[in-house]
Amino acid sequence: MTIPFTSPTLQFHLPQVPPIISKKVAVIGAGAAGLVAAHELRLEGHKVAVFEREIHLGGTWVYRPDIESDPIGLDPNRNIVHTSLYDSLRTNLPREVMGFRSYPFVAKKRANRDPRRFPGHREVLDYLKDFANEFELNELVRFGTEVWHAGMMENGKWEVRSKRKEGHFTEIYDAVVVCNGHFTEPRLAEIPGIERWPGKQTHSHSYRVPEPFRDQIVILIGNAASAHDISREISEVAKEVHIASRSAQAVDLGKLVGYNNIWLHSVVHSVHEDFSVAFQDGDVVHADIIMHCTGYKYHFPFLETNGIVTLEDNRLGPLYKHIFPPTLAPWLAFVGIPSKVAPFLTFEFQSKWIAGILSDRISLPSAEEMMAGVKAFYSSMEASGIPKRYTHILEHNQFEYDDWLAAECGGPPIEEWRKQMYFITSKRRMNQPETYRDQWEDEHLILQAQEEFSRHFS
Ligand code: FAD
Repeated sequence: MTIPFTSPTLQFHLPQVPPIISKKVAVIGAGAAGLVAAHELRLEGHKVAVFEREIHLGGTWVYRPDIESDPIGLDPNRNIVHTSLYDSLRTNLPREVMGFRSYPFVAKKRANRDPRRFPGHREVLDYLKDFANEFELNELVRFGTEVWHAGMMENGKWEVRSKRKEGHFTEIYDAVVVCNGHFTEPRLAEIPGIERWPGKQTHSHSYRVPEPFRDQIVILIGNAASAHDISREISEVAKEVHIASRSAQAVDLGKLVGYNNIWLHSVVHSVHEDFSVAFQDGDVVHADIIMHCTGYKYHFPFLETNGIVTLEDNRLGPLYKHIFPPTLAPWLAFVGIPSKVAPFLTFEFQSKWIAGILSDRISLPSAEEMMAGVKAFYSSMEASGIPKRYTHILEHNQFEYDDWLAAECGGPPIEEWRKQMYFITSKRRMNQPETYRDQWEDEHLILQAQEEFSRHFS
């Protein structure tokens, strides 16, 4: 008899042997990463408790219309709103690529579901709820329970202190898997003169709807996916929208083709007390609002590792394969640190690997070997002039990374159609940002995906 290891359609099976060692594992967070980690850990036979400070699962995908009291996140005592979604957000990956491999993200023919290939955010939340229902994960989650301390004890176990309405609790675990997300703590652009600039500042973390920008002159710092969507949306009500972009080519600067009130600039040089914003290309604009679309910081306020794990210029380290701090492995693990990836897939592979290592079915190199690997990686980054803050950006290497994890777990690599679909979409997102979600040319890949998904559900 065998148990399915990944998608049943992949025809990959492990001999059914009882798990060699079952561990008591705390998973922090019930977003996509925490849910798939809980699923994989339980499949492997571990005892899992998932701590979730919100009262719902889904993390990022739980839209909230309210925003934080300090929209640029400087006040440490502000109320935290976890999500960074805006109301109109549609996915930037097609659903075929986005879903977990073991539970395809297919359109459901049900009322209130969004069948589009690049659906709105509510559909992603519904998908995560379906995933949790399918694998009975809700019973593992302690909702409304925030971990405020996770620290290693002298005997190598982990003390997890949490709080919820009923009070404070302390429990001991063999291992902790951190899945707390990294799209909540705003990173701000460093702008000379900003402390005296009298206008309003906000961050894309706190953008929900365009209405507050009506008749305003708005500067958006950054030009990645969110900035792109937000600039187009607020241009419908704002007086002027100016995008400051580090990567813009000189030939593209100026008014955007197809828009009356959006301009592309180089980076901001400085801002001044008369509301002016000076760009490096020499343009000067008197603005009402600056919106930082400059990404997010990793943040682990609850984690105590006696200085073993540090965060420096957005490098969380040392981490072997972006997952294990070598000297604490496998008792402390992180899921979801890589960025510019197809996140759900990466979470799934990372979780499988962690689960297999914790049960001693898969082995890790020695701490010294892992540390040497991390150091070699840092040195190669340095030699290529890549800044520290890009440590966890995988982008073009992501499938190599996922395939490596898959191989370690004894599974097949990612399907070719999925890789091609990801790269075709990325290219179209760059070249046809206004239309890529509704027009495409990869029908042949969709057919391959559908064929595989239909086998999965048959
Ligand atoms: P999260 O979803 O952030 O979940 C973390 C969970 O941990 C939360 O529920 C939080 O409440 C909980 N938590 C945090 N701290 C504690 C604590 N101390 N104690 C207890 N619980 C805690 N990805 C895509 O695949 N496609 C897209 O189109 C896409 N669009 C995006 C658009 C935006 C604007 C953003 C911000 C992200 C987007 N992403 C997209 C990436 C998205 O974040 C990931 O897909 C994924 O949902 C992240 O999952 P996660 O579980 O790592 O983190």
